[in-house]
Amino acid sequence: MTEAKKPLKKPRGKACLIAGKCIACGARCESSCPVNAIEMEDAGEPQIIVEKCIGCVKCVKVCPAQAIDMFFTPEEQKILDEIMTQGGGAVEEIDAEAAALARKLAAYRGVWVLVEQTEGEAAKVSWELLGKGRELADALQVPLSAVVIGAGVEFLCHDAFAYGADQAYLVDAAPVFRFYRTEAYLKAVCHLIDNFKPEIILMGATGLGRDLAGAVATVVGTGLTADCTGLGVDDKRNLMQTRPAFGGNIMATIMCDKFRPQMATVRPHVMPMHERREGACGEIVRVDCPVREEEILTKVIEIIRDKQGKDQVDVAGAEFIVSGGRGLMGKENFAMLQELADELGGVVGASRSAVDAGWMPAERQVGQTGKTVRPKIYIACGISGAIQHLVGMQDSDVIIAINRDKEAPIFEVATYGIVGDLFRIVPAITGRLRELKQEVPDNSGCTGKRAINA
Ligand code: FAD
Repeated sequence: MTEAKKPLKKPRGKACLIAGKCIACGARCESSCPVNAIEMEDAGEPQIIVEKCIGCVKCVKVCPAQAIDMFFTPEEQKILDEIMTQGGGAVEEIDAEAAALARKLAAYRGVWVLVEQTEGEAAKVSWELLGKGRELADALQVPLSAVVIGAGVEFLCHDAFAYGADQAYLVDAAPVFRFYRTEAYLKAVCHLIDNFKPEIILMGATGLGRDLAGAVATVVGTGLTADCTGLGVDDKRNLMQTRPAFGGNIMATIMCDKFRPQMATVRPHVMPMHERREGACGEIVRVDCPVREEEILTKVIEIIRDKQGKDQVDVAGAEFIVSGGRGLMGKENFAMLQELADELGGVVGASRSAVDAGWMPAERQVGQTGKTVRPKIYIACGISGAIQHLVGMQDSDVIIAINRDKEAPIFEVATYGIVGDLFRIVPAITGRLRELKQEVPDNSGCTGKRAINA
């Protein structure tokens, strides 16, 4: 009996540089290569190590100048010729694999947003995510669904419709879902995924969202991208999840192209909140989830809320922020920023350098490892504009930068830039605001401050 000949595997080819086309864009191909098969030469052009290349085509896709193409080595060409004479068995095998994957992915449809709530109060980030979810769902031509889990929380489904959801999956049962506990909510979300198979799930990058998203992704066996700053979809329905990587030095776009659902978390204030549409309707899908209180090991005995101390300031939610960096030179100089913030009805923020120096508390830090803010006005004083700071504030409506170095990167994102000494400029602005307030006639019972802000 002769042994059946194993079909040959179709070679993927190797990447090669097309002479004269590289524009030395800054090593995008090198950073895209998963196997370190690309090294940069001094002139900024890549050298592709053919032996290491696995033919994944990532560098070809990322190159902005179409300077990289695929080719077959003589050995690969030989295999290809053999496949042709065998009648294409290997090609069929690969086609069958691709078709099986496509079938698996096609079983998942729809965009979901978890409506995070604590004792019936929704986290604002959930409404922000419904705005982004709406865009993704429209691009994919699928419904946008809210996932509402809790006890006595049906009213949140109507809020979700007002923020753009077409329908809501409601898991409503007491006592098991009254308080957030990982086990109970994990089982509920996994039950929903098993039954309704969404292709995308978004959650807030809050304490609850981070905890739940990681647990769900692990149990269902899919990918999760945390702290995304941008979300979009490509023509193959893949979620393109952009977030800072390598210590914030690059923005990476991450895809999960072989597993579903695709999961991402987004920090509060990163996505703009869409306007609330009163009276918007949707369908509520009530789901009984087979989770019993007795099965849950964690019990909530008491909820102790953070004491709202005098120094506790919500930088993330503020509409006006005056932030200070190392250019402030000392803790005592932050009083000057506080005066300006008081005139604007805002709060004082800080760069990490100022926090590390002990000039401001950690909860005031703006940036990648601090808070993400989206105020109406962000005034950056003595802050250079490192990428880790920018990712936390660049979506502010208006950015005013004050820096004595005209080359400081903060000016690249600033709406208005003031080159000069902050110790002269900040008091001058505060003084002028005070003058303006005194000049504003207060006929209508409005305070001068309100008149200026308007
Ligand atoms: P500097 O970079 O030292 O800039 C001081 C600026 O003040 C200079 O531009 C200078 O020209 C100006 N200046 C000095 N005197 C005056 C004056 N009299 N008038 C006007 N201008 C003046 N940073 C953050 O802010 N937030 C983060 O969340 C964060 N996370 C990080 C995470 C990682 C993993 C890493 C590696 C870094 C992170 N950083 C973060 C640090 C970041 O890289 C920068 O080091 C930091 O933002 C610099 O702070 P700065 O702009 O205050 O200080």
